[in-house]
Amino acid sequence: MTTDTTAYDLFIDGEFVASDEDERIDVEYPYDGTTWATVPSGTTADVDRAVDAARRAFADETWAELLPSERAAVLEDVADAIDEHADELAELETRQNGKLIREMSSQMGGLGEWFRYYAGQCRTLEGRTIPAESKDGQLFTHVKKEPYGVVGAVTPWNSPLLLTVFKLAPALAAGCTFVHKPSSYTPVSALRFAEILHEEGGLPAGVYNVVTGAGSVVGDALVNHDDIDKVAFTGSTEVGRRISADAGESLIPASLELGGKSPNIIFPSADLDNATNGVIKGIFAATGQTCLAGSRVFVHEEIADEFVDRFVERATDIDLGDPMDPETEMGPVAFRDQWETDVSYIETGVEEGATLEFGGDQPDDLPGECFLQPTILTDVENDMTVAQEEIFGPVASVLTFSDEAEVLELANDSQFGLAAGIWTEEMRQAHRVADALEAGTIWVNEYRTLSFNAPFGGYKDSGLGRENGLEGLEAYLQEKTVWFDLSGTVDDPFKLG
Ligand code: NAP
Repeated sequence: MTTDTTAYDLFIDGEFVASDEDERIDVEYPYDGTTWATVPSGTTADVDRAVDAARRAFADETWAELLPSERAAVLEDVADAIDEHADELAELETRQNGKLIREMSSQMGGLGEWFRYYAGQCRTLEGRTIPAESKDGQLFTHVKKEPYGVVGAVTPWNSPLLLTVFKLAPALAAGCTFVHKPSSYTPVSALRFAEILHEEGGLPAGVYNVVTGAGSVVGDALVNHDDIDKVAFTGSTEVGRRISADAGESLIPASLELGGKSPNIIFPSADLDNATNGVIKGIFAATGQTCLAGSRVFVHEEIADEFVDRFVERATDIDLGDPMDPETEMGPVAFRDQWETDVSYIETGVEEGATLEFGGDQPDDLPGECFLQPTILTDVENDMTVAQEEIFGPVASVLTFSDEAEVLELANDSQFGLAAGIWTEEMRQAHRVADALEAGTIWVNEYRTLSFNAPFGGYKDSGLGRENGLEGLEAYLQEKTVWFDLSGTVDDPFKLG
């Protein structure tokens, strides 16, 4: 279905510019399938132009050479500009991927804080001095931090701007410049974001460039470009593995935020009301389309029946509907292919012996072809496909366990290690289990909370490196060690010293 559409251009060197080619990508509202925007299907020549602009902005005195306090002042203006446009950006996000306006409004309302936090870090960026012992200590040795240079960033469709800002805010604070390829499902918000950041936030031209287009063309050209200095990627483990190999070939660093299959573990002492809410939050919020999804629910066998009754009852009550309605609790899946993937995983689960406790189908009173009921599979064993592979939809796999040792073994028996939830009122148990779980983020008696100042990233196949917090800034800085000789003599030239 097509309605009035807005045609966007690429954003390169501080302005909207046409692509090299005429081919365009349609952007649909998943609620009813209407096409409301188009963006260029960019080319490798477009990527060259964007990298060239970012290189010039890095090399001349417009960004990396600003005093840190000057860069910080721009980032604070950027934060104010984002706040001004939070409602507009939230609507763009929802129109692209169907995530709830109630979630997108709070995400966009908080986005400026990433820039304010990293503006603060930028003001306090310091090196250190080293008491080097060569030459009897007659040396003055200091380490300074310098930006990597031009960053090539590739992002997914599920939280388009938030996941971009995880990279962009620290990269800019470090003094890097940025070329961004957003997901082809959600390319519009990045283009408008770049315009706001330059026109109202005061970013100099060339600092943040956006090239839309296919991953196999624009994404591939960007990560393999011989004039970028670092890759930042969020997306599937499959594509991340390939991008990591590409970056390895170019010998540049790559930070990778990848997939997950996170365990959400309920012990007998848990507050079951909170735990049920936490499980709903973990798997049905955002229609399960979150890397953090608590898609493996481990419940102790003593409380399993009671928990499943409550879980099904809560799932039955979830209001599905138009994501633009602030009352809606679950929107559609972002696009039909993902819907088909979700349904095929549910079928595989049942074929392999799981019980379809609730959901599994498209409700017949909703428009479009992307709605899927919140779905609960029980009698799941840890070696089943639905317990091991990332589904990326509203599908919970419920497994039972008899003791702490067993659940730790089961929870860690996964290729992924992004996050985990622990529900218990026994604090010693919570500490023990948090220590033993192989995951980059652990929540105790909560699920799916994040902050700009708390590092986030995966163990195992869930990624490499950390975003947010001090670690998020370090990812865009490299160290230079400078040695001054104070002894005044260079004697034995054939000796390391
Ligand atoms: P995806 O298929 O891996 O795509 C991610 C991005 O990579 C898109 O922009 C895509 O472009 C691009 N791409 C595809 N092939 C490429 C190639 N050969 N070279 C360079 N770029 C390429 O992931 P997705 O379906 O968009 O997102 C869902 C996945 O992201 C899930 O696995 C989820 O767990 C993960 N994720 C992880 C985190 C985290 O922080 N750990 C957060 C959110 C999501 P096109 O759109 O044009 O194909």
